[in-house]
Amino acid sequence: MKIIMYSVLPEEKPYVEAWSKKTGNEVTMLDVSLSTETVDLAKGYDGIDIQQTTNVHEPVVYEKLASFGLKQLTARMVGFEIINLQAATDNGLTVTNIAAYSPRAIAELGVTQAMRLIRQLGYFDQRMAEGNFLWHGMISQEIHNLTVGIIGAGHIGGASAQIYTALGAKVLAVDPAYNVELEPYLEYTDLDTVLTQSDIVSIHTPLQDDTVNIINADTLAKMKSTAYFINMARGGLVDTPALIKALQNHEIAGAALDTLADETEFFEQKVDPATVPDDYKTLKAMPNVMITPHSAFFTNTAIRNIVEIGLNDVVTLVNGGKSRNALN
Ligand code: NAD
Repeated sequence: MKIIMYSVLPEEKPYVEAWSKKTGNEVTMLDVSLSTETVDLAKGYDGIDIQQTTNVHEPVVYEKLASFGLKQLTARMVGFEIINLQAATDNGLTVTNIAAYSPRAIAELGVTQAMRLIRQLGYFDQRMAEGNFLWHGMISQEIHNLTVGIIGAGHIGGASAQIYTALGAKVLAVDPAYNVELEPYLEYTDLDTVLTQSDIVSIHTPLQDDTVNIINADTLAKMKSTAYFINMARGGLVDTPALIKALQNHEIAGAALDTLADETEFFEQKVDPATVPDDYKTLKAMPNVMITPHSAFFTNTAIRNIVEIGLNDVVTLVNGGKSRNALN
């Protein structure tokens, strides 16, 4: 089988080559994304696999793919809003995505940052950069004595709960969906209990109408003044000015953020540090705030899974099978 793969990252290439060798399928890797300009490159292939942030909504793209004899469109990513599902369906193309490629990748960065916060590592880094090597006044906490509150115990929140439990912490969670498989790792409760009882509050809900700014002045005020807030999910879940205020007023002890509401202006780009948004600069200057550039997903396991799950779906669908990742 001949497969064309768009927007292949350098980190994906070794996994694509290994998969191709193992399965005997031929894969052509492109640097460009799928668009009206590049769709013709898919002519002569049996399967197609894409990954991109730019929209491909033009029906002509789907009409062309169908005219080349393609039966599927695999998106090796979680979000699929860049795809015109209706046009795909109208042209007989089954679209798949990858809902969970490695929840552990994101969960582990959240836990790592929480561990750095409770050991005051940001303050120690700042002191030592100033030539101050005293540990006085910087007493830390141990994770096994702490309560962690998970808001949204899905793939990533559930994986986080498992790690925190393994480290000996008590884990509370709030989620409208009850997952019996998580019973060994957490205790379900309500949002107020999570906020008021937890030493670490870690949010893992999707960004949707009812979760926009779910962390705001009111919810932050309910947290312990000694508590840390972890957001590895989406920046829009947090009212950033309210978070900054809560940190400045010592209403909470610190935060770790892998996402910011306005991150698209500068994350994933190399920019002059002077031009980054003010909220980023304010937060970054705080020794009790850890920021990473939406990199929680970027592990070798996640990239291998993204490649293999996507390519396996291509083969399944081209051979007339069904995928549980099908979106239409
Ligand atoms: P998921 O769908 O598996 O889990 C989300 C959970 O949140 C579900 O169990 C759902 O019932 C629950 N939920 C929905 N509304 C809620 C509410 N109001 N209160 C409490 N719980 C609620 O999603 P996931 O794969 O675990 O992803 C979680 C978050 O992580 C998403 O925001 C996703 O976009 C983000 N994410 C970030 C990265 C990264 O690199 N930083 C990578 C992948 C995903």
